[in-house]
Amino acid sequence: MSNGHIAFIGLGNMGGPMAVNLAKAGHVVKAFDLSAAACLVVRDQGIEVAASVAEAVEGAGTVISMLPASRHVESLYLGDAGVLAQLGAGALVIDCSTIAPASAQKVAQAARDHGIEMIDAPVSGGTAGAAAGTLTFIVGGPAESLELARPALQAMGRNIFHMGDAGAGQVAKLCNNMALAVIMGVTAEAIALGSAHGLDPKVLSQMMAVSTGRSWATEICNPWPDVLENAPASRGYSGGFGNDLMLKDLGLAVEAAIGSGATIPLGELARNLYAMNRNQGRGGLDFSSVVKLFLKQD
Ligand code: NAD
Repeated sequence: MSNGHIAFIGLGNMGGPMAVNLAKAGHVVKAFDLSAAACLVVRDQGIEVAASVAEAVEGAGTVISMLPASRHVESLYLGDAGVLAQLGAGALVIDCSTIAPASAQKVAQAARDHGIEMIDAPVSGGTAGAAAGTLTFIVGGPAESLELARPALQAMGRNIFHMGDAGAGQVAKLCNNMALAVIMGVTAEAIALGSAHGLDPKVLSQMMAVSTGRSWATEICNPWPDVLENAPASRGYSGGFGNDLMLKDLGLAVEAAIGSGATIPLGELARNLYAMNRNQGRGGLDFSSVVKLFLKQD
């Protein structure tokens, strides 16, 4: 990896624990988040909290970002006041946010123009994976840049997949999440159908989990309350992966499909399902709360 400390920008649900794992692995981490509360959480965990992005990045060899969406990433890196203009040539940038592939390519091109190595490295594994250091990194960008980034990625995750050039990590991440969204939606629909016919959702789920309807939605994150003790559904759909984050990813998948001419009929349907779930007030809840759309109202 490049010399100098790691600047970590974005200490939210994912970024906070990821930065802590880097520090635990012995990396020197200077971090910043616009939210004072997010900074406070990591302050006593081996991380120096900076007063601004510029202060965190000053003298850094590597910058890692974990921000909500494309516009945050573009405004962090691009422009005269952006991080790319501040970093020296030869520095390494790892953006772990889930953003539009086109946006990742735009920032990667700007990084190349500055002589800076960059990879897009969105993650799978959720907040539990971030805390446990078991994330999967889904990488786009030059193979040599990935090799420079590997020690940092290994401190935060378990699996690393190189998908191709800049933006390819984002495309692959969207493919995975679109499949997850559709599978969760249809699993919720199936359990609601069974329940409407008097079946016990728990027994139905147990049967499906060892049959051909088996998936992450039946085994790990069952959408029906009290089927799986540790699933968000059993704690009022709190924690987990927010409906609005899934909705964002599905919007990016639809945009990507329009851009490439690919057809994603189920993905587009799923985007509408999670938009309906948000419109009924569940945007902040785990995405498995989509099951509520299928419950009969008496
Ligand atoms: P979050 O909203 O909890 O955290 C984002 C943080 O970025 C916030 O604390 C915010 O204050 C900070 N921020 C925004 N703009 C900033 C700026 N200019 N400078 C410094 N800080 C800034 O979101 P999250 O759940 O941590 O997700 C981050 C990214 O990871 C998203 O792109 C999301 O899609 C992706 N992701 C999330 C999960 C999950 O389970 N939460 C799983 C996989 C991927």
